[in-house]
Amino acid sequence: MSKKEKDKRICSFCGIPADNDTLILDGIEGNICENCIQMANEIVHKIRQDDNKNQVHNFDFDKKPAEIKAFLDQYVIGQEDAKKVISVAVYNHYKRIRYYQQRQDDDVEIDKSNIILVGETGTGKTLLASTIAKLLDVPFCIADATVFTQAGYVGEDVESILSRLLQAADYNVNKAEKGIVFIDEIDKIARKSDNPSITRDVSGEGVQQALLKLLEGSIVNVPPEGGRKHPEQKFIQINTRNILFIAGGAFDGIEKNIANRMNTQTIGYKKKEQKVNNDNILSHISSQDIRNYGLIPEICGRFPVITYMSKLDKDALKRILLEPKNALIKQYTKLLEIDNIQLKFNKDAIEAIVEKTIELKLGARGLRTVIEKIMTDAMFDFPSTEQKKLNITKKYVEKKLSIINQ
Ligand code: ADP
Repeated sequence: MSKKEKDKRICSFCGIPADNDTLILDGIEGNICENCIQMANEIVHKIRQDDNKNQVHNFDFDKKPAEIKAFLDQYVIGQEDAKKVISVAVYNHYKRIRYYQQRQDDDVEIDKSNIILVGETGTGKTLLASTIAKLLDVPFCIADATVFTQAGYVGEDVESILSRLLQAADYNVNKAEKGIVFIDEIDKIARKSDNPSITRDVSGEGVQQALLKLLEGSIVNVPPEGGRKHPEQKFIQINTRNILFIAGGAFDGIEKNIANRMNTQTIGYKKKEQKVNNDNILSHISSQDIRNYGLIPEICGRFPVITYMSKLDKDALKRILLEPKNALIKQYTKLLEIDNIQLKFNKDAIEAIVEKTIELKLGARGLRTVIEKIMTDAMFDFPSTEQKKLNITKKYVEKKLSIINQ
């Protein structure tokens, strides 16, 4: 059609005539204007989204425990016992889901394998849980137990944990129902029974009772947006039967509980000299110790798998800097490589970073803090200079850290 010829086409959907403001595309049987294209696009998007929400996800995960552990090894350094225990628990958990997917007659009830990880901050508890979720490609969320209060008190309801999982699952309920929830700082809601002045244990037993409802495998009314429940709010129902809960906590001082239990156990029949020292005492952790610490028996019962995370020593911290797939040094090297800058860390610089990290007592979390402090100036200056090589020496590390310490 020449420009001078008047455009007589109209949109076959809404009837609008073509003019300078409205673009009309030709089809075989008719035409469509840009407004209708946009509207159609939105409708298609909405339908697809609803389809996705209602889609049933049958789980066909078939990795063996050894394969699960091999995957974890790529991201989590050390923590061999925990990785092994978790691999078996996750294997059983998803075997259980398949079992229930395939058969209607539940002749044998298989219990869930919820897991408690006991270990200091920065030892990799969250990392372990999130890596499992990555492997399984299931929705994952982290909830901090300290923000919850029992119903009726100021704070978040425990149900908001599931709102977060639902968000992580793009509001696909079916997907959320097979996800993983990491509950951090579970030790902070332990019952403080030795304090007689507490009449209403808002942060302790009440929250544990509320949490129990989620762990028991029941249908829970979840406010889609999280936060507090309002009577007029619409709820989404989520069945928690197949959600895997992994809880983490430092359980400060629990070594004493373990030692006491072990000592009383050995009275009566004298065991051969047991090699229990402060370094490996956590490896003897049991459900009883967690109970004595102040978690109610019903909660302990819902976490049948208990394992521990060791303190990270110098060697482990060094490996964490260098070895995992997303190791910090690898990340910084890549970042600078994009600007054509070659980054190298000397061996003794690594040593110095690790030493400083140990002083911070933040576990491996301290590594990032230390490296950030060392690298910030260089990351700021280098892209504007002609220099193409950055060699981090021990002296450089010490200089940067001494400025910070002042
Ligand atoms: P926690 O939950 O025990 O407090 P995190 O899992 O959040 O500790 O660890 C903090 C950071 O330290 C993680 O992002 C991770 O990079 C690193 N980290 C901690 N432990 C390990 C580990 N065992 N292997 C590799 N990286 C680790």
